[in-house]
Amino acid sequence: MKETKYETKLLELPYPKNDAYGALSMPVYHALAYEFETAEEMEAAFCGLTSEHTYSRVTNPTVQYFEERVRVGTGAHGVTALNSGMAAISNTFFTLAWSGCNLVTSRHLFGNTYSFFVNTLGAFGVEIRFCDLTNAEEVAACIDGNTCAVFAEVITNPQMEVVDLLTLAAVAHERNVPLIADTTIIPFSAFHASDFGIDIDVISSTKYISGGGTSLGGLIIDYGKFDWSHSPKLKPFADASLSAFHFKLRKEIHRNLGAYMTPEVAYMQSLGLETLSVRYERQAAGCQEVAERLQSMLGVVSVNYPGLPENPYHEVSKRQFGTNPGAMLTFDLDSRERCYDFMNRLKLIHRATNLFDNRTLIIHPASTIYGTFTPEQRAEMDIHDTSLRLSVGLEGVDDLMEDISQALAH
Ligand SMILES: *Cc1c(COP(=O)(O)O)cnc(C)c1O
Repeated sequence: MKETKYETKLLELPYPKNDAYGALSMPVYHALAYEFETAEEMEAAFCGLTSEHTYSRVTNPTVQYFEERVRVGTGAHGVTALNSGMAAISNTFFTLAWSGCNLVTSRHLFGNTYSFFVNTLGAFGVEIRFCDLTNAEEVAACIDGNTCAVFAEVITNPQMEVVDLLTLAAVAHERNVPLIADTTIIPFSAFHASDFGIDIDVISSTKYISGGGTSLGGLIIDYGKFDWSHSPKLKPFADASLSAFHFKLRKEIHRNLGAYMTPEVAYMQSLGLETLSVRYERQAAGCQEVAERLQSMLGVVSVNYPGLPENPYHEVSKRQFGTNPGAMLTFDLDSRERCYDFMNRLKLIHRATNLFDNRTLIIHPASTIYGTFTPEQRAEMDIHDTSLRLSVGLEGVDDLMEDISQALAH
């Protein structure tokens, strides 16, 4: 039988209840509480015997529809939408971790994720074990009976390191430990995380999904494949549902932390989902072309993008993410002063953080995202003073290259 295309499934997903006015797009339900006909129905809803909405910190019709679209689009078991990528990461680890456990990851991490692990989780008695995730033996040596998870970013931001996910998943799974990955850099329209052994996927939907920097959001996607009876913390819930992780997250953690997505954000990001694959293909192809053309420009010392054949991660990246691996690249000039001078001369490209806006954005990571880190921390994390990060938007590539070339010419 022919498989229905992901976009078709997502666009045609029916609403759980008919809209009174036949609205074609999901209305924004700004309701906070929901009324019941009887006390008995109220009891059933509050005790989880029915799936009626009760209170919008727990579920909301508009947010649930967005979650359902993501679930249909990814084939996942459970999807939870939160109000930022960091909320997705923190809710995931408050579900998984316990005092006295350890978490195996790399120092090549998004700045706030690194700080969340070291400072926030660290204060609750979680040991963060940093290793080289591209070295299977090192990873294996870090895992023990108290490891709650292995965590990786699929393309690290901004080092652009690409880990071989099937190898990493094998090392984790042989030791009965789940693999959690941040897949923000490659959207699920182009990359099937569960085919590469990822058990739980965390995403900053602020980036590609929001549809052009419209809103902050985060997603936790549970593929329902890991056997949680191996987790000392989640074992008691392993019989309660197909996924003890999703059960614990939805029944306890997300309610207690109170970082659920808001309905207006779910509306915007639901629209973003409708055009995700088209925007991504255009932006990633544009990024590939910018990377190729940057290489031969005078003043550019190196270009770091796994889509380039000479990049050390090219083969593994191609196997996992296809020909154009995302719309972010970094490049080096010969000094920090040159980087600042170049940035200040740009006329079209925007000096702003964020990734995968429809506009092209540039940032000097060492002095901004990592500006308050110590020089030693920056060195350990491979954050260089000479690097610039570029997120390629939907403008014409010739227009972008003209701007880059005039700014480099000085
Ligand atoms: C932006 C980003 C985050 C954090 O997401 P927010 O939505 O800003 O909270 C996490 N991981 C990666 C890889 C990111 O790029």
